[in-house]
Amino acid sequence: MSKIDVRGDKRVVRSACRMCHGVCQVLVHLDGDRVVKVTGDPDSPVSRGYLCPKGAASPELLYHPDRITYPLRRVGKRGENKWERILWETALDEMAERFARIKAESGSEYVAIGQGTGRPLIEFTLRFANAFGTPNFVAPSHVRYAPRVAASKITLGQLPVTDVYGFGGQDTAGMMIWGCNITQSGSADGMCGGMIQRALKKVKKLIVVDPRRTRPAKQATHWLQLRPGTDDPRHCQGRTDRSRFCLQSYGRIRTTGRAC
Ligand code: SF4
Repeated sequence: MSKIDVRGDKRVVRSACRMCHGVCQVLVHLDGDRVVKVTGDPDSPVSRGYLCPKGAASPELLYHPDRITYPLRRVGKRGENKWERILWETALDEMAERFARIKAESGSEYVAIGQGTGRPLIEFTLRFANAFGTPNFVAPSHVRYAPRVAASKITLGQLPVTDVYGFGGQDTAGMMIWGCNITQSGSADGMCGGMIQRALKKVKKLIVVDPRRTRPAKQATHWLQLRPGTDDPRHCQGRTDRSRFCLQSYGRIRTTGRAC
């Protein structure tokens, strides 16, 4: 374990970044109560010192002068962008009164609750929906994560997690990157991009399916350059079709230099 510094008002504390799903373990450098810097925790067994630019910029977000840290009430017409600052108690009272009125006039199911990616907030939102009495709740997971879990369970019996870190004692030997480039986009989780970049240094065989010659495509053993939009229908049909599709595409690449 690395030492946690305490020098005068300056100290470093361990924490975790929650700017995305990655939950990278971080060291927060404080001067008094003020965060001056966030760095990756080299002793983390999971993120292993990784920190993406978003995580590194989190103190700027925390102290940005435009960050709204108090409730605002709209005073102009919708779209006029006129607001007044109100007290938390006032905001909570007004919200409670409005929710109670809607429930009394139209029933609790008249209220639908939508929220962004769950992170650590979803438990509170769901608890509120339950306490209020509405089943109408939607989050991004309903349209992307839940179907992914369901499809994995149907086809594989579980949701497999890729061991790109080599926790099982072996580095990733082969990798297929299909229709994405998380080494540069970071995917939804910047951490995954960092993991893949590290694994790419050791991988022996790399297949990239992408119309663009992305950075991984440049180092790929096989780059399957599909015409944009031609992989999705077959991709969705399951593993058997997908395997055949790969072989077909690869065959064409070998003979014509292009797939499909
Ligand atoms: S990938 Fe970046 S934003 Fe996500 S948890 Fe790690 S440091 Fe934070």
